[in-house]
Amino acid sequence: MTTVHEPAVLATASAEVLSVWPASTAEPRPGDLTVGGVALAEIAGRFDTPVYVLDESEVRRRCQNYRDAFPEAEIHYAAKAFLCRAMAHWVEEEGLGLDVCSAGELELAVAAGFPPDKIVLHGNAKTPHDLKKALSYGVGRIVIDSPSEIARIAAAVGPDGHQKVMVRVVPGISAGGHEKIRTGTEDQKFGLSISDGYAQHAIARILDQPQLELTGLHCHLGSQITDVKPYLSAVRRMVGLMARLREQHGVVLEELDLGGGHGVAYRPGEQTMDLTRLARKVRAELTEACAAAGLTVPRLIIEPGRAIAGPAGIALYRVVSVKHTGGHTFVAVDGGMSDNPRPALYGVRYAPRLVGRRGSTTLAPVTVVGRHCEAGDVVAADVQLPDDVGAGDLIAVPVAGAYHLSMASGYNLVGRPPVAAVRDGRARLLVRRESLEDIRSRDVGL
Ligand SMILES: *Cc1c(COP(=O)(O)O)cnc(C)c1O
Repeated sequence: MTTVHEPAVLATASAEVLSVWPASTAEPRPGDLTVGGVALAEIAGRFDTPVYVLDESEVRRRCQNYRDAFPEAEIHYAAKAFLCRAMAHWVEEEGLGLDVCSAGELELAVAAGFPPDKIVLHGNAKTPHDLKKALSYGVGRIVIDSPSEIARIAAAVGPDGHQKVMVRVVPGISAGGHEKIRTGTEDQKFGLSISDGYAQHAIARILDQPQLELTGLHCHLGSQITDVKPYLSAVRRMVGLMARLREQHGVVLEELDLGGGHGVAYRPGEQTMDLTRLARKVRAELTEACAAAGLTVPRLIIEPGRAIAGPAGIALYRVVSVKHTGGHTFVAVDGGMSDNPRPALYGVRYAPRLVGRRGSTTLAPVTVVGRHCEAGDVVAADVQLPDDVGAGDLIAVPVAGAYHLSMASGYNLVGRPPVAAVRDGRARLLVRRESLEDIRSRDVGL
C-alpha cells in the first residue's frame, strides 16, 4: 500500500475540492462540513444513513442561472433527474416548466400544484395510460417519438379536441459522456431520423391531423455534454429541417427545443458546460441560420436535468467496515448500487470525503464499495481518504442530486434512502426512508 503524505492544511477542504459542492458548503472546523448552514454529521444523526441531502438554495440558484443565461427561452426542468413535491414547487417558483416521461412523474407534479400547461410529456414508449393522463390533465405539449403515436394521440384527443405536439428529431450528432447516454445518433431508440426521412414523413402525417397542432421540433443529444459545438450543429440541422418544412408544407414552426444534457463536474477539475457561452453561441447560430433561411427565429426551449439537481445533492453514508485484501483497501458503506447505480451503469467516478471529524492528514488509496451482493457495487474506485478511516465514520459523496434516488432500486430490500432539504441553517425531511413495512405491504400473495 502506498501512502501519500500531505501537509496538515489539506485536512481542511480546499476551494478546488469544494468546487463540486453546493455554494453554501463551509467547514467551520476542520472536517466538520456544513451545507445550507447544517452540519452533515447532524443530518446523519437525525435522519440516519444513507441519506440524500438537497440544498434548496443551490437548486434555486441553478434555475436562476438558466433564466439569466437564456432570458428569451423557456427552461424546462427534466423531472426524471429528481422529482418530489418540494422540487416541483421550487422549479415552478423559479419560473421553469417541467418535462415528464410517465404518468407517475406527471401525477406527482400535478398533485404538487404544477400547472399542467407548463408540462411536456416525453417518452419513446408512452403507454396508453401515460397518454390518457396527459390528455386528461391537459399537458402543454406531447413530444411525438414514433410514427405510431400520431394516430394514437389523434384518436385519444378526439375529433373535437386539440393538443399541441412537437416531434423528436434525431439530428445525427454524436455527443455525450458515455455510449449509454448518447441520444443524438441514428443507432439508438429515441426520436425520428432526418437522414432516412422518418422525421419528415411523421411531420407530414401530423400536419394532416387537424386536432394536432405542431408547435415545433425537439432534439436531445445526450447527457454530460461539456462542448458547445454539438448544440450548434443541432441548431443548423434543425433550422435546415424547419426551412424544408416551410417549403414543402408552408408551415412555420414557432419553437425549437434543444433538449438538455449540459455536463457537470463530478470530481474537482472536471469540465462543466459553460452556460453563458452556450447561450451566446446558440443564440448567434440560431439567428444566423434563420436569417440565411429567411425564417423568423423560433422560441428556444432548453431542458436541463442534471445541471439543476445534480450538484445540489449529497449522498451521506456510514462506513460499516474497512477491509484490506488483494493489495486493496475496501471501505464498505451502508448504501451502494441500490441508491446509486451510476458507477455500475456507466463507470462514473466520484470524489467522496470523510466528514464529521478531522481525519488523519495521511491519505491512503481506497475503493469505497457498497453493501450489495455484486462485485460491481462500487461507490468510488481508487480514491484518497484519510488512512484512519474506519467503521462508524461518515462518507459524503457530492453531486448526488440527479439520477440517484430517481434510479434507485429495491435490490437486497434495503429500502431507498430519505431526502432531507437544507436551507438557512435548518434541515427538513422531504422524502422519508422506504421502510421494511413499505416493502412488505406490496408482498400480497402466498
Ligand atoms: C434526460 C433528458 C433531459 C435532461 O438531460 P440532462 O442530461 O439531465 O440534462 C432533457 N430532455 C430529454 C428529452 C431527456 O430525455
